Amino acid sequence: LIMNIRKIDDYTYEIPREGDMIVHGIVYSTDKLFKNTVEDGSLNQVVNVAKLPGIVEASYAMPDIHLGYGFPIGGVAAFDYDEGIISPGGVGYDINCGVALLRTGMNYAQIKPRIKDITDYIFQEVPSGLTSRKGFPVNQNDLQEILTSGLKWAVSRGLATELDMINTEDNGSIESHGTHVSKQAMQRGLSQIGTLGAGNHFLEIQRVSDIFDEDVARKFGLYKDEVTVMIHTGSRGLGHQVATDYLRELRESRESIKTSDPELISIHVKSKIGENYLDAMKSAANFAFVNRQMAIYGVRKVFKKFFDVEPELVYSLAHNIAKVEDHIVEGKTKSLIVHRKGATRAFGPGKSSPPFEDTGHPVLIPGSMGTASYVLVGVKENLIKSFGTACHGSGRVLSRNQAIKKFSSIVDRELEEKDVYARPATKRVLYEEAPGSYKNVDEVVAAVEGAHLARSIVRMVPLAVVKG
Ligand code: 5GP
Ligand code: MN
Ligand code: MN
Repeated sequence: LIMNIRKIDDYTYEIPREGDMIVHGIVYSTDKLFKNTVEDGSLNQVVNVAKLPGIVEASYAMPDIHLGYGFPIGGVAAFDYDEGIISPGGVGYDINCGVALLRTGMNYAQIKPRIKDITDYIFQEVPSGLTSRKGFPVNQNDLQEILTSGLKWAVSRGLATELDMINTEDNGSIESHGTHVSKQAMQRGLSQIGTLGAGNHFLEIQRVSDIFDEDVARKFGLYKDEVTVMIHTGSRGLGHQVATDYLRELRESRESIKTSDPELISIHVKSKIGENYLDAMKSAANFAFVNRQMAIYGVRKVFKKFFDVEPELVYSLAHNIAKVEDHIVEGKTKSLIVHRKGATRAFGPGKSSPPFEDTGHPVLIPGSMGTASYVLVGVKENLIKSFGTACHGSGRVLSRNQAIKKFSSIVDRELEEKDVYARPATKRVLYEEAPGSYKNVDEVVAAVEGAHLARSIVRMVPLAVVKG
């Protein structure tokens, strides 16, 4: 690696500006986590992003950074909204992939004897894997409404509550025309509402193992030994098709901005194609909010049947998205298009909308099916450090194939020893997703805290997992 890296403090590394970089690179990490990062080539991607027109402040990376399509996963980059670019690779193929967390109001002891039954039932209710099992039935008109209004559609049909909207990023409804999504994308999405998808997507039953801030935990309705349910899914085939469609359009357009890495293609956000992509991305994001909501609907049905309770939403958020936001750049408020790819918005107190204005909204960080997951909140200083952003998970260290080779003989026993009941769509996915193929989530969260991006509120450990 021919790169000059400067350690600024225990949690911050700088790639100084040189050549045609417009800004420097900043990676939040620790010596231990950083080693993996240096090896996988994702730092080159941080450098490439730093060269894109209109970028301001820095090309940032979170401690869970790893190699992605064009932009690194765990990357954050903001561009001047008037003069800068937008890039599908800076959002990711799974537009508005994200996480939802439910609290059940029940404690571990009450649920333990039924864990397997609940999990098997959830496996039936929420289709997972690359199966032909259909999601919640909707027609073309529903789908059109979902693209333009997101969760408003679900509330109007009695499938979600006003409270669900309040507890969802952007209220689960981003204004869009809904007319820039191809027929093919819509066709793919039609039968996939309320489905998990394959691979890294999951639905996990957890127990609260640690509380780090009693006050904020109570405000989020979380207490020790409470059972929570975490859902990780995105925009399924619809979002993937939107990304595919616009990447092709960009490749074919003379207006697009091409770099040495063809995956890093981008276009001025205020161009025709840029505006169309932004609108299609918003539509796909609305679809993803509804997809997660309908998985929640399935989980509620199961808990209602078993325990006569309806789990409440702690929060539902996006970790693959670009948004127009105001931030202070060089002392002036500027309108920016902030790309967060495998990174979570983490607005702290003051910047979050009600009811989270005093605490900051919950930041949901999954770890792996054999380790832990976290709820954090953003801290005020993060606005000038990462445009108000934290990590999105622990981040991969091994590829899927490497994971299969290394762990297929031990995963089953490891989960058994940890008393985690797994219901994978295929055995293969269980091995690909072995806990050892991810970085240590406790270390990643410690790095995020050390860098003053966010702070821990609650830690959860897995009891059972449905894996796509
Ligand atoms: P991504 O969105 O990049 O696919 O992954 C999000 C994060 O989810 C990963 O970085 C990993 O830390 C976490 N993760 C993947 N599988 C599981 C799982 O089964 N359970 C939990 N709790 N976390 C997972
Ligand atoms: Mn995803
Ligand atoms: Mn994701």
